[in-house]
Order: sequence, then C-alpha cells, then structure tokens
Amino acid sequence: MHVEDPYHELGLAPGSSDAEVKAAWRRLSARWHPDRNDSPQALRKIQRINRALEEIRRVRGEPEAEADEKPTPGPQPTAEHTVSLTLEEVVVGCVKEVRGEVVEDCADCAGSGLQPQASECSECGGVGHIRQHLWFGWVSSAVECTACQGHGKTRQGCTACAASGKAPASKYRCRVQVAPGARAGDLLDVTARVQGRQRKHKLALRLRVELQPHEFFTAEADGTLKCELPVDGFAWMANRWIEVPTPRGLQQMKLRRGYLSYRIKDAGLPWASGAEAADCIVTVVPMFPEEFSREQEAAIDRLVASNSGAAGTAAGDRMAAWNRLVDGWQVRRG
Ligand SMILES: [Zn+2]
Ligand SMILES: [Zn+2]
Repeated sequence: MHVEDPYHELGLAPGSSDAEVKAAWRRLSARWHPDRNDSPQALRKIQRINRALEEIRRVRGEPEAEADEKPTPGPQPTAEHTVSLTLEEVVVGCVKEVRGEVVEDCADCAGSGLQPQASECSECGGVGHIRQHLWFGWVSSAVECTACQGHGKTRQGCTACAASGKAPASKYRCRVQVAPGARAGDLLDVTARVQGRQRKHKLALRLRVELQPHEFFTAEADGTLKCELPVDGFAWMANRWIEVPTPRGLQQMKLRRGYLSYRIKDAGLPWASGAEAADCIVTVVPMFPEEFSREQEAAIDRLVASNSGAAGTAAGDRMAAWNRLVDGWQVRRG
C-alpha cells in the first residue's frame, strides 16, 4: 500500500513537527483501531495511518522502532566451551584440544525459517482482513487476517530447514595454546574450524577456564596456593629441613620450632604478565607419638629439666620472670 501524501493522511500540514506527527497518529489510531471501530473502512484506514507514519519517519531518517538492545561491536562468539586445567598446567601453560558441536542458522533463510520472497496470503486472498459474519447474517465486520497480520502477504516456510531456521548440527574443533597464569573464570576467545555439511567455515568460540581440584593444593583467586602437611614433631622441634611440594616439584624448607605457617615466595600460581608468581602458604601439623616410649620419656625429662633451669637463655629468663610474677600474685592474695 502506498500513501500519496503522508502528512495529508494524518491531517497535517507538510513539515509538521515530530510531536504533531506523533499526536495525530495517536489520535487517529485510537479512532480507527479495529478493536474499537468495526466499520468496514477501519482496517484500511489504520493501515494507511501506519504507513503514513512509517513514510514520514523514513524520509526523516528516524528509526522505525526504538531498539531494546545496543549492538555490540565486532563478531560475537557463537559457542561457549569450558577448558579444565590442572594447577600444573596453569604453571607452565599447555595446549588443549577443544571439540564440540554447534547448531547454526540455516544459510538459505538466514535463520528466519521463511522463504525470502513473500507471496499472496491464501487466507484472506491478499486483502489483509477477513469478513466475519455475525449471527444475524446481514451485518458483517472486518477483522485483521491473523495469517498475514493484515499485510496481505505471507512468507512460506523455508524448505532447506523445514522452517526450523536451523542447520543440522556440525562438528567443530580447535587447538588452543593456553599461556601460563590462567585463572578460573578467565575467558579466551578463539576461532574453531567447523566441518559443516553446508560448507567449511570458522566459528568464534569463547572458552571459560576452570581449575581442576588438586590432591593437596587449594588455589585462592589471587593465585596463592595453600597446602597443609603433617611433619614429624621431633623434626619440627629440631628445626630440621623437610621437603614440601610446590606445583613445580619438591622444594626444601627449614622448619622453625614454634611456627606452623610458612610462606614460600613465588611458589604459587604465576601471573600471566611474566615471571612473577604468587606465594605458596604451607601449614605444618607437627605429629607426636600418642604414647612416648620409655627412652623418649627419659629423654624428654632431661630436656624439660635442662630447659627450665637454663638461666641466661631467652627461654629460661622468660620462664623465670613468669614464675616470679605468679609467686608475687599468690603472696598478695594472702
Ligand atoms: Zn492474510
Ligand atoms: Zn531455512
């Protein structure tokens, strides 16, 4: 349907303002809307009013409708995938092969499920409305044709995809080089090769990194690793060297009597930026026998005696000061 003079159609002078155009269109649509007006001309009239508004907007270069979603620049990834990394792989980097299946839009109809060319609507014979006879027979009203929504033309279903708009699932694969320093939740945008039935092409793929749980390390968001390990209680008393695991292998660490938590510099997960890495925090649990042997008991007795009587050492002095404090307190209490 072509509208000769869209301003005239809306009862306006050429060059009326946007506000005047909108107000006139609203007034006329309210008056002629088939929901409220069952005169035979109503449908025709409402179509002409709508076309007039479209025409004015087109000439003025306005969008026909306000878009709800802002388009984002660049090609959008069309498939998502998860890559699961061990902590050891995070440390040195790795190559992962990703395989999957993707269902894409039908190339024939660009995903619409409809043939590109519209043909005359068979329901209404191309006029866009249907006459409905009321029970008393001689009065009829025109209602919008639901098959073509009043346009008089419809598009038949696409035969290539049986009107589904989707192509058959095709397989994709790609090899991904994951640099050291990946973190859980990282997103990697890569390109995969699709072996489609229609054609071979590329697919933008978004990979989400997840970290596999480790046997004895837990990873913090900042890359700090935590590990708790049992140590021989006597070795701990004796400030011995022990071996502790890091993702890069075993490392020597000197125990310090009285200390349970140790920070090993740069032994945590690396940063993507370069050589620097987070730290590894080792918590030791000194293990002692449930029961001491007679020899151990005797040795410990000697140790206790030598420790509390060792005047001049820091430990002996602090113990002596504490004992004086408690003695004084007892005397004052009476
Ligand atoms: Zn129709
Ligand atoms: Zn199709």
